[in-house]
Amino acid sequence: MNFKISIGFDLHKLVPGRKLKLCGVEIPFKKGLLGHSDGDVGLHALIDAILSAADLPDIGTLFPDKDPQYKDIESIKLLEKALELIEEKGYKVSQADLTFICDEPKLSPFYGKMKILLSEKLKIDPSNIGIKAKTTEGLMKTLQIEAIACFCLVVLTKKLES
Ligand code: MG
Repeated sequence: MNFKISIGFDLHKLVPGRKLKLCGVEIPFKKGLLGHSDGDVGLHALIDAILSAADLPDIGTLFPDKDPQYKDIESIKLLEKALELIEEKGYKVSQADLTFICDEPKLSPFYGKMKILLSEKLKIDPSNIGIKAKTTEGLMKTLQIEAIACFCLVVLTKKLES
């Protein structure tokens, strides 16, 4: 087995009048993430980590935010496309570990749903998916920053030709 490890990161602004979606799961909140797509920072960080590990162009290059076909697209569809691309190169995701940076809303009640959805998409056991969140202890509010960010580490494995 050949292993590749990469990290992805994303940050989007929270604004009124948008749905909040993280890792494909809708989270009831008064604000949502601004973006050309649905603004799902969890999936964007994951997609970038996956693409980088497989030596593919990044999310902004493959799915440009100027391209009308990606306007308001569900990021889960972008993840499906990224998974097809790495599969063509012989890779599969064997582990994913996500850390959100988020003062509100509280994300822990949604970890279970996120893990199930990701485990279905990545075709791996939920025990190989880590999801957690850290607050900035109100620092973002002090600095008047309304946003959610996410770091994601992935491990890809490639079957060596025998
Ligand atoms: Mg993004």
